[in-house]
Amino acid sequence: MQIINPATEELIQEIGEDSPDVILKKYQQANIAQSAWVAVPLTERIACIERFYALLDEEKDQLAETLTQEVGKPIQQSYNELNGARKRIEYFIKNSAKWLAEEWITEEDATREKIVYEPLGVIANISAWNYPYLVGVNVFVPALIGGNGVLYKPSEYATLTGLHIQRLLYRAGIPQNVFQIIIGKGTAGQALLELPLNGYFFTGSYRTGKYIAEHTASKLVPVQLELGGKDPLYVMDDIESVDSVAEAALEGAVYNNGQSCCAVERIYVQEKVYDRFIEAFVDKAKKMVIGDPLKKTTEIGPLSRKEQIDFLKQQVADAEEKGGTVLLGGNIAGSRGYYFEPTVVVNTNHNMKLMTEESFGPVIGIQKVKDDREAVELMKDTPYGLTAAVYSKNFERAEAVMKQMDTGTVYWNCCDRVSAGLPWSGRKSSGLGATLSYQGIRAFVQPKAYHLRG
Ligand code: NDP
Repeated sequence: MQIINPATEELIQEIGEDSPDVILKKYQQANIAQSAWVAVPLTERIACIERFYALLDEEKDQLAETLTQEVGKPIQQSYNELNGARKRIEYFIKNSAKWLAEEWITEEDATREKIVYEPLGVIANISAWNYPYLVGVNVFVPALIGGNGVLYKPSEYATLTGLHIQRLLYRAGIPQNVFQIIIGKGTAGQALLELPLNGYFFTGSYRTGKYIAEHTASKLVPVQLELGGKDPLYVMDDIESVDSVAEAALEGAVYNNGQSCCAVERIYVQEKVYDRFIEAFVDKAKKMVIGDPLKKTTEIGPLSRKEQIDFLKQQVADAEEKGGTVLLGGNIAGSRGYYFEPTVVVNTNHNMKLMTEESFGPVIGIQKVKDDREAVELMKDTPYGLTAAVYSKNFERAEAVMKQMDTGTVYWNCCDRVSAGLPWSGRKSSGLGATLSYQGIRAFVQPKAYHLRG
C-alpha cells in the first residue's frame, strides 16, 4: 500500500497490508487478551488512558506533522485536532467511572436488584481519514475503558497516524493484543465483517456504512454508524453583524479543506441580508491562504484524495448547467498536489447536486430565501440528518427552526462543532447510535440485570 503526500503527490512510505490470515490471528489474540483486560480494575484501565492523553501532548509535533503529511490538513488544524482529541479523552477519564459503576435499583426489598455493565467483547473500530484522532478517540477510548478488545482499522489514507495511535497506546500500558491495528484498504475492513466480532463501530460514508449494517445484520451485535451529512446553515434577517456571521459560515464550510462530516455544506440567506452576506462571504473567501499545509499560515491545503477533485468539478459543472453562478473558484489550484480553490456558487436550487449531495471539499452553494418557512422547507429537504445551524438575534425564532430539524445536532449562532459532553449522532442517512457523552460510554457495554434473594 502506498502512502502518498496529497500536497506533493510524492510517496511517503510503502506499507504491507494485513492478509485475511493475519487479521484472523489478530482477532484470536484479541479475544484471549480481552478476557484478561476485563479483569484489570477500571481505575487501572483509566490510568492507561491518562498516560495516552499525556503522550499525545508530549509527541504533538511529530504527530501533527505526520497527520498533515498524509491527509493534507493545515498544520495548525492538526494541532487543533490533537488538542480536541485530548479534551474528549479528558471527558472520558473524568466520567467513565460514574457511568460504568454498578447501579443498585433496590437494596431494601426481599429481592435486591442491580445493573452491572459488562463489555461487549472484541469490537471493530472502522475509521475515517478526515479526523483520525477525533473519530478514533470517540470509539477506542471508551471501548478500552469499558474493558473491550479493539481491532482498529484506520482509513488507508491515515495509516501512519493509526500506527502512531497504536504505538502510544502500547507505551501507555494498553496490552498489545487488546488493541490491534488492522492495516489495509477497504478489503481489510471487509475481512473484519467476516469475523464473529461483538460490535461494529464505523465512521465513514453512507455507502460503506449501509453496506456494513446490511452485511453484519445477521450477527445480531451492536452496529453504530457515524456517516456523512449535507448540513445547512440559515442566516436570518435580524443578525447583528453580517460580517461575523459570514466569517463563521465560511470557516464552517472550509475548515479541514471542507472535509468535515459536520461541515457547513449549504447556506440559505434571508433576502434582506442576502447581498451584504454574499459580499462579505466572497471577500473573506478570496483572502484565504492556500498552500503548503506544513506552513502555519496556511488555511486551505490539498484535498486528501485525488478522486475528490473530479467529483467537486462535476458538482460545480452540474450547478452551472442548471443556472448556478460561480462567484469564486471552481477549479484546481496550482500545478502539483490535490488542491481545489475555495468555491462559492450562488443562484442555486435543489435540482443541483451541489445542494443535495455531500461535497466534502471547500465548495459551497448559497441560496436566497424569502422567510423562515421557506428556509425550513429547504433545510429539511435532504436524506441526511447530522447537524443544522441557525444564525439570528432572536432565540425564540431560531428555536422554532431548530425544533423542526430532523438532525442529531442543532446550533444557534455557531456551527461545525462537537462537544464531548453531548451525544454525537446522525439521523436518517447520517447514522445510527451515538458516541460521546454518557451515551458514548454506555455504547461499549451491555447491561446485566441481577435479581438477588438471600
Ligand atoms: P469510507 O466509507 O470510504 O471509508 C471509511 C472506512 O471504511 C475506511 O477505513 C475504509 O477503508 C473502510 N471500508 C471501505 N470499504 C469497506 C468495506 N467493504 N468493509 C469494511 N470497511 C470498509 O469513508 P471515508 O474514509 O472517505 O470518510 C469520509 C466520510 O466519513 C464522509 O462521508 C464523512 O462525512 C464521514 N464522516 C462522518 C463522521 C461523523 O461523525 N458522522 C466523522 C467523520 C467522517 P479505506 O479507507 O482503507 O478504503
